Amino acid sequence: MTAQVEFRGLRRVFGRTVALDGLDLTVEPGELVALLGPSGCGKTTALRCVAGFERPDSGAVLVDGRDITGVPANKRDAGMVFQSYSLFPNLDAAGNVAFGLRVRKVPAATRRTRALELLELVGLPAHAGRYPHELSGGQQQRVALARALALEPRVLLLDEPLSALDAKVRVSLREEIRRLQLDLGITTVFVTHDQEEALSVADRVAVLRDGRLEQVGPPAEVYDRPATPFVAEFVGTMNHLAGRVSGDRVTVLGQSLPIDGPAPAERSVEVLVRPEAVRVSPSEEGSAEVLAASFRGASVRLRLRLKEGEVLADVPGHEAVRLGPGTRVRVELVERPVLVSVREPIDAR
Ligand code: ATP
Repeated sequence: MTAQVEFRGLRRVFGRTVALDGLDLTVEPGELVALLGPSGCGKTTALRCVAGFERPDSGAVLVDGRDITGVPANKRDAGMVFQSYSLFPNLDAAGNVAFGLRVRKVPAATRRTRALELLELVGLPAHAGRYPHELSGGQQQRVALARALALEPRVLLLDEPLSALDAKVRVSLREEIRRLQLDLGITTVFVTHDQEEALSVADRVAVLRDGRLEQVGPPAEVYDRPATPFVAEFVGTMNHLAGRVSGDRVTVLGQSLPIDGPAPAERSVEVLVRPEAVRVSPSEEGSAEVLAASFRGASVRLRLRLKEGEVLADVPGHEAVRLGPGTRVRVELVERPVLVSVREPIDAR
């Protein structure tokens, strides 16, 4: 039932805007790939090319090796969920879920049974008779998901399906989407601009920039070994610190660290350091000061003032007790390879 989806050299131009600039990406059968990138990088356009709502100027979309670029949307085997609730207001939940089955002339009794099964699958067994305005945002998206799955598509396309929901519902629904996707084993492309969402649901994260693929890999790889400063910047939080290259190492905050990747010839660079790679300990002689501490669940994010500028540090909750605002501290970087950039600071957000 599941399929491989391939974006091959997709290019789409709107007037002077290049939305897709030769996008190459293969999503394997049963895989969930998150398309992640800043607003305007072409994520939605890429998804719409798979759905058949958008036609690329050049390049192709292949499903199991078959070129479907010219196939009309209603002949494609894909279910789609949009950001905003797109349910038919005049149909109840069961009617919405059964809509595609009705179009395909499935008998009424079978439609009903199937719609109820799907509503059960998305956790709404008792809501079949409710109309969209009687459902919460999260419930409406569950119905939209059930509707997308009703025709047993081989590909599921999710375009920012959670971004209109509040934080708590967003997290629980994304976990449920992932569980359902794994149970059904359905190939899924999940568009989001939220890096935490992408990292938490996907088998692989594809980072897009200006209509091209910047990096694709499992979440941990994209996070721990970003291929470019752009990816490092967009996925997770980075401190930007001034450094000086000598040989294959860089000196930053008075410490010498190995460089990740080829060392640039430039002597002055920007060094990218994750907040969790900054160690902080209270010290009267320390040259830094804690400006603010914000609780983040398992860790606490400290904002520190150094003579070199402000730095963010993530420390375990139990350590943060001794590190309230005003505390003088010593700062040390974890000894591990760091990315350096010789470019101007990147505006990724
Ligand atoms: P967002 O997260 O903001 O939705 P996105 O990464 O999904 O962004 P797209 O919606 O694919 O980006 O748009 C890519 C670029 O193409 C944007 O600059 C957008 O303004 C432009 N664009 C998309 N569709 C059209 C259209 N129908 N007509 C003109 N320009 C368009």
